[in-house]
Amino acid sequence: MPDKERKMNRVFNFAAGPSTLPVDVLKQAQNELLDYNGTGMSVMEMSHRSADFDNIIKDAEKLIRELLEIPDNYSIMFLQGGASTQFSMVPLNLFAKNKKAHYILTGAWSKKAAEEASKYGKVNVIASSEEKNYTYIPRVEDFPKDADYVHITMNNTIYGTSYKYVPDTGDIPLVADMSSNIMSEKIDVSKYGLIYAGAQKNLAPSGLTLVIARKDLIGNHMDITPVMLEYKIHADKGSLYNTPPCWTIYILKLVLEWAKKLGGIEVIEANNRKKADLLYNCLDSSDFYRGTVVKEDRSLMNVPFILQNNDLNTKFLEKAKTEGLVSLKGHRSVGGMRASIYNAMPYEGVEKLVDFMKNFEKENK
Ligand SMILES: *Cc1c(COP(=O)(O)O)cnc(C)c1O
Repeated sequence: MPDKERKMNRVFNFAAGPSTLPVDVLKQAQNELLDYNGTGMSVMEMSHRSADFDNIIKDAEKLIRELLEIPDNYSIMFLQGGASTQFSMVPLNLFAKNKKAHYILTGAWSKKAAEEASKYGKVNVIASSEEKNYTYIPRVEDFPKDADYVHITMNNTIYGTSYKYVPDTGDIPLVADMSSNIMSEKIDVSKYGLIYAGAQKNLAPSGLTLVIARKDLIGNHMDITPVMLEYKIHADKGSLYNTPPCWTIYILKLVLEWAKKLGGIEVIEANNRKKADLLYNCLDSSDFYRGTVVKEDRSLMNVPFILQNNDLNTKFLEKAKTEGLVSLKGHRSVGGMRASIYNAMPYEGVEKLVDFMKNFEKENK
């Protein structure tokens, strides 16, 4: 079919991850697919040692440093294995002195991270919101000094909570899983020892994990650490120790260029707050829907909500789909719905969702 006749059928995709990407990025990737920068090949087919790819990976790093204002004493790594591999990589590399870490449990992901770390050393669960089905973020003020790091999951993708404060861990490095909130709001990187994020929520397609680590924390890995799980080798080799996920890094670069063109993190954060306010106001002004977490700890990125009448769930999802609003089914541990409204979700998408919700309420009350 000729291009002109092909109908674009883009939906508003509220999936938690992999998730929606900016249309401009997809179009540029499409334009450059067969012939990247006059090379006569796509980035998928290109040597990771080529000059063109070298420019891509260096640009990606430069843009991340610029957008997140990352200080020079931090290394950036582009790794594979998802955020889940960081659950092992963090303890293997950071259990240097005490072989002990404090974990705050705020959901399924932090629990998995803690379980994995307990294979390599002692895990002290210093706080947990499990008793209330992770509907809030515990506030911890005091951290015993006998730990190599403190681990938090900053945004809880499944439960829809998010830290609104940075725990003050003193001299103990703070490690944060930011898979679902990286680049969504301004953060002070210098408050963290290490940040990691799977790319498939806010950065790029799946297959890439971003790690930002303070340089003094690199190189102290345990003897048993497999070479592919050493931060040092990846940091020393500029993430080119072995073949990196080249295509995903290329898309990441396009997403970062898109973010910069929008005006950077401040503009993105303001957009995200506008989108989240619109949706949360809709939930708060209705007794047909109900948000599932305490208001103070609500996530800007993942908005779980339930219908007071659970029998309407299927109807809600089916009707939404016919209007081009998809992937709204909640995670089984919360039930109901979840709208993930990452950076690439336009305001119009949330507007359309809220209009749909109001109409659905009127018709089914
Ligand atoms: C999605 C997610 C993970 C798991 O990421 P994978 O890349 O699939 O391993 C871990 N932590 C958080 C907060 C997530 O949202």
